[in-house]
Amino acid sequence: MNIELLGEPFAFKNTKLSLDRKVAKNLLKEAQEALPYEYSALLCGQEATITHHIAMPTSTRDMHTFGWDGPSFIQALQSIRESNQQWLGVLHTHPHAPPIPSRRDAAGWHYPALSYWIVGMETPATPSWRVYQWQNGSFVERAYRIIDVM
Ligand SMILES: [Zn+2]
Repeated sequence: MNIELLGEPFAFKNTKLSLDRKVAKNLLKEAQEALPYEYSALLCGQEATITHHIAMPTSTRDMHTFGWDGPSFIQALQSIRESNQQWLGVLHTHPHAPPIPSRRDAAGWHYPALSYWIVGMETPATPSWRVYQWQNGSFVERAYRIIDVM
């Protein structure tokens, strides 16, 4: 079986973008541990369902920078490919801001087919999750659901 590495999680008419509850829980735990710094991860799975994530090292320890160095990004994509999954999105946190894409977020995003998740951590106990899709030059908020994959 040969599947596309780059998924299209919004392309399924009858399946809403879905995030496995366990993945959501782990992402949040790691994001909280990273505070006060940003946390970011690649999200992967198949079709419209995210079942795994790969935590990414931040290239700069700047609290407002969301960027990866080339080698760890390429390595992460390779491990997605090797596990026969698809890359479905990215997630990063805004430790001190609401989950609204910044201008730098918009400038640095080049994968309109993928889901773009931001978790606002201003109040770490009640983080706010948002998912966006890049469409016609701006981020559009999308719906998603949390599911129990297994
Ligand atoms: Zn951001």
